[in-house]
Amino acid sequence: MARSFFNKLARGLSRTRESIAATLGGIGGSARIDPEDLEDLEAALLAADLGPELTAEVIESLREPRPEAGGAVEAVRATLRSSLDHDKRVERVTRPHVIFVVGVNGGGKTTTVGKLAALERAAGRRAMIVAADTFRAAAIEQLERWSERAGAEFVKQREGTDPAAVVFDALKAASGREVDTVLVDTAGRLHTKINLMAELEKLGRIAGREVEGAPHEVLLVVDATTGQNGLAQAQEFTRATELTGVVLTKLDGTAKGGVALVIQRKLGVPVCYVGVGEGLDDLLAFDPDAYVDSLLAV
Ligand code: GDP
Repeated sequence: MARSFFNKLARGLSRTRESIAATLGGIGGSARIDPEDLEDLEAALLAADLGPELTAEVIESLREPRPEAGGAVEAVRATLRSSLDHDKRVERVTRPHVIFVVGVNGGGKTTTVGKLAALERAAGRRAMIVAADTFRAAAIEQLERWSERAGAEFVKQREGTDPAAVVFDALKAASGREVDTVLVDTAGRLHTKINLMAELEKLGRIAGREVEGAPHEVLLVVDATTGQNGLAQAQEFTRATELTGVVLTKLDGTAKGGVALVIQRKLGVPVCYVGVGEGLDDLLAFDPDAYVDSLLAV
């Protein structure tokens, strides 16, 4: 499992890794680091979207004298890895376990819901997908196709139906159908941002009335290719709803894979999954050690 995570992620992150590896490889095991090499590394880390703060931390850690040769990579690894530590694991306590998936349109939300359903099924759990993004008929259809592929139950209503009514009906049906996990696809855009955030709050209240503690998870989908810009949008969501985790999509197509490291620092929530392709199996549970190894494999 860890091995296959590493392989898939390594492929996905290859563009990010190439630029970092080129500079770190040059530094290698030398005990004293040439200031020019440090500058190159700084540029590579910034280009990979590690952000200015973390990049500065990494560079600082390399200025300190290191006792053992070959320590440069280890020093970088330690700094990156420690920025991924967190204590926010969500336990399953009730059935159904309700997960809201939120994020702006185009980020990969619909696709992610389908992939999450496939992961549930692979874990032997019965999943239900709820189309609460009732503003896009095309998204509802797309979601229905994903449900079929993932072998999940599917709940939808006509375009334009109040999303709260869809969630209410779905949660009522979930108990009867012995569903383990309910995945709610929420709207990525309403007329105004304020409406969108108010809508999310309302959906949360309705869910909590039907199932104790729901939503148990609120996952924010962030498109890795938008880099630091995507983070600003993500911060809007942290104001409206209590996020439990981030799904970082499109890590396969970006040279900015370092953004995963910044997300936790900026949003205060961990990356839980990463998307590394458009297929049903292209969603991986986030493994911080394998991720850092993938970034640094020199
Ligand atoms: P939504 O508007 O947020 O629901 O976005 P969609 O789920 O419709 O995805 C938008 C586009 O991104 C689609 O073409 C997806 O195939 C693509 N996509 C989603 N996740 C990934 C990913 O992890 N990797 C790649 N390469 N493409 C992805």
